Amino acid sequence: MVTAPNNTVGASSRAPRAELLDARRDGAIERAAQIIRAGGLVAFPTETVYGLGALGLDPLACARIFEAKRRPHFDPLILHVAEVRAVDAVGHMQPTAIVLAERFWPGPLTLVLPRHAVVPDIVTSGMQTVAVRVPAHPVAHRLLEAVGTPVAAPSANPFGRLSPTTAEHVAAGLGDRIDAILDGGPADRGLESTIIDVTGDAPALLRAGAIALEEIESLLGRVIDRRLSSSRPAAPGQLEAHYAPRTPLLLSEPGASTDLRAAGLLTLTRREGDDRFAAVEELSASGDLCQAAVRFFAALHRLDERGLDVIYARPLSETGLGVAIMDRLRRAASMTRR
Ligand code: AMP
Ligand code: MG
Repeated sequence: MVTAPNNTVGASSRAPRAELLDARRDGAIERAAQIIRAGGLVAFPTETVYGLGALGLDPLACARIFEAKRRPHFDPLILHVAEVRAVDAVGHMQPTAIVLAERFWPGPLTLVLPRHAVVPDIVTSGMQTVAVRVPAHPVAHRLLEAVGTPVAAPSANPFGRLSPTTAEHVAAGLGDRIDAILDGGPADRGLESTIIDVTGDAPALLRAGAIALEEIESLLGRVIDRRLSSSRPAAPGQLEAHYAPRTPLLLSEPGASTDLRAAGLLTLTRREGDDRFAAVEELSASGDLCQAAVRFFAALHRLDERGLDVIYARPLSETGLGVAIMDRLRRAASMTRR
């Protein structure tokens, strides 16, 4: 019989604890790359949210992502590469893709391209297209360079839950299911990438995200909106219920006589009377939607941790990044209705 050594407190739990790596320390990024190259799972910072990285051309390593996140297999993964020129190895960059890449890469834009055969089916859910991104975050960039091949990385959270914008969020959600967490501080944009499909006759928006649609349309002209266009969504981050806190969330104002002693409020700017709520998260005192996007997931995480009965989210205007924030709030609220 094997006995656990005395110094391994909690060794009875079979779940491994993720190794915590501080990206500022010498060797941390190289260590993270080594774990990925060996087929492991490492959460790492990007400018959108924390990603859960694995070798993108290795089906077994990618399968571990689905297992750790408990993610349905019909939900394809985004491949991340260090340089624009590395994209050609996995997908075909046609003229529209090149125009978008020149303007937005490295950055929070994902392009859906015709795939090449090296990409495993588990990455694309068997589709003939592949989603690719070149992140701008310096830690992500150095990690991708050190790995040297494409890294598949969905958000580093249990499937359907709030996206993580800090290493602490990752540790709380997946800390006992992955090999390491590379801590590079809070993600600076705070919303997932905007996804544009360039494989059809005209470019199509599959997911609203950190780059406002207006910015893309100013470059390309009109972009088709293909969010929520089928029961098997083109971008399953687009499932109706997604990005949800555990606490029920209502996208509305409470009635005047509602008891708010166990209610939280998420609002762009505070208003008179908001101190009736047990907890208030103000996203931007000046009403700045970019600042609101950066703070959005962390504010929802904080409200979710308070053990409230309900979170009221005050609808905000759907211009610029307000579109992407409202999109996530609707999905979170739709999880509550289930
Ligand atoms: P996540 O990284 O978990 O936030 O989600 C990545 C998003 O990219 C998911 O909604 C995927 O479905 C979407 N995606 C990945 N690959 C493709 C593809 N080939 N076609 C369309 N959407 C994709
Ligand atoms: Mg996600």
